[in-house]
Amino acid sequence: MAKMNENFLNLKQNYLFIEIGKRVREFIAANPDAPLIRMGIGDVTLPLSPCVVEAGKKAFDEMGVKETFRGYEDSGRGYDFLREAIAGYYKTFGATIAADEIFISDGAKSDSGNISDIFSADCPVIVTDPAYPVYVDSNIMAGRQVAFTDFVGSTAPETVAKDSLIYLCSPNNPTGQAYTYDELKKWVDLAIKTDSIIIYDAAYESFITEKDKPRSIFLIEGARNCAIEICSLSKTAGFTGTRCGYTIVPNELEKIKSTWARRQSTKFNGVSYPVQRAAEAVFSEEGQRQTKEATAYYQANTKIMMTALTELGIDFTGGINSPYVWFKCPKGMDSWEFFDVLLGKANVVGTPGVGFGKNGDGWFRLTGFNTRENTEEAMRRLRNIL
Ligand code: PLP
Repeated sequence: MAKMNENFLNLKQNYLFIEIGKRVREFIAANPDAPLIRMGIGDVTLPLSPCVVEAGKKAFDEMGVKETFRGYEDSGRGYDFLREAIAGYYKTFGATIAADEIFISDGAKSDSGNISDIFSADCPVIVTDPAYPVYVDSNIMAGRQVAFTDFVGSTAPETVAKDSLIYLCSPNNPTGQAYTYDELKKWVDLAIKTDSIIIYDAAYESFITEKDKPRSIFLIEGARNCAIEICSLSKTAGFTGTRCGYTIVPNELEKIKSTWARRQSTKFNGVSYPVQRAAEAVFSEEGQRQTKEATAYYQANTKIMMTALTELGIDFTGGINSPYVWFKCPKGMDSWEFFDVLLGKANVVGTPGVGFGKNGDGWFRLTGFNTRENTEEAMRRLRNIL
């Protein structure tokens, strides 16, 4: 039989969502009428904005007419109209990006998983703990060793191994924290000092509200010499099912840019034309107004959660610049103990922090992606059981 890539056999089973599913199913079987509220999902719930739907429909109509039909896209990097719209969007918060530095993709998960393909198998890898699991698993698949830093230290460590790949995510999943300009500058300086590359996942940038938190690593001096930014329309504009994201590789990293272009042109044939037109509409004036309404709705939910946790005297991070609220499990419980208490007594499903890394144990993640009514009800129940 063809020999398997042994690296894949080194992956830990991702027990988190399987185990959550199992415990929830068992609970429902025993309590079929329980009014369950799911606050664990990292998926949006509001529909696409009307102007985005309209743009997608119009593009599909074009595909049905001989004169305007489009087949494969020439470059596979994304149409100019979308790349220019994204470059224009970055300008609105002060970051200068050229359209030709942007690679359109089907989302931030693929890009953050695939980007390590173009780096050497012996690159040291640094990931914060807890973290979005893709950074760790994609590097294990490539046979690399992964070293972890503490999430509490949003401050950069004194040093890292030379020529490292450093994964940062801000606003962070799961902790909801966002780096300040000063904190991020320290990471950029560290990357430059050690000839490392930062893979910067900005999938939640549209949730940033505080002025001292950058929306892009390219707002930091020096970042163009050491950073790649990955972003997504999933949480910005409800594209989790529509699929569109992008990666920015600055011209200063020419070799990385041309190698990424080569990798993508070999393994990826681009995002569909209607989806790119729908994505373009997100960055129009009307698209921005409409999509920001959805973000504001989720942000109001996290505010309700933050108020409840503050009243209960529970330590938490996130919520302000993120759809995630990350809090210390009450009464010294570990993540799974609290999961069971919350499910059993309040009929609320959340995400045990330990599923994102060992530093997540004793912590818990709730999201603002549910309805207002459910969020209010879940917090009322939380108050009742504590
Ligand atoms: N990056 C982070 C930090 C995420 O939390 C997620 C999804 O939850 C993604 C990337 C995936 O984004 P996409 O839907 O664009 O693949």
